[in-house]
Amino acid sequence: MCPVGEVIGVERLKEAMGDWLGKLAPWDVFSTWTFSRPVTLNGAMYWGRRHIQWLEKTAGQPIYAFVGAERGDRGGLLHLHGLVGNVGHLKPYCGTRQEPGTWGLKCCMLHAWPAGIARVLPYDPARGAAYYVGRYISKRLAEWELFGFPAVPQNPLDFGKNGGIN
Ligand SMILES: [Zn+2]
Repeated sequence: MCPVGEVIGVERLKEAMGDWLGKLAPWDVFSTWTFSRPVTLNGAMYWGRRHIQWLEKTAGQPIYAFVGAERGDRGGLLHLHGLVGNVGHLKPYCGTRQEPGTWGLKCCMLHAWPAGIARVLPYDPARGAAYYVGRYISKRLAEWELFGFPAVPQNPLDFGKNGGIN
């Protein structure tokens, strides 16, 4: 009915989601996980869950995560966005460029994503989750899930210093 109002609504929703996520837990990385072939929403979330399990196994300790699915512009291709905590000791990116179409490796969190191209950025608490949500999530998420909550952060004292929960 009112497209402008709708856009503002989504922006407000994203802002609120970013603020909420920023206060929810101390995060280590922000990831974008894409798919090399079309998947359903259920399929995308399945791969997300599977990857969180792999990350947890690799981390050697309980981790926690937020995973949201978003539809792309062209053809509605789905991709995932994730915030993950308790993986601060794992490498986000190994620094090596891989051949196109190479994924599911063990060198780093970026190349470990098994279903397509990924991007893994170290989380900057000074910027907060709202920055990542605002910059990398272009519209409303189709679906999202939390894993490993209530979170037990590795370094809860660090989080207090950054202005989070005490
Ligand atoms: Zn790598």
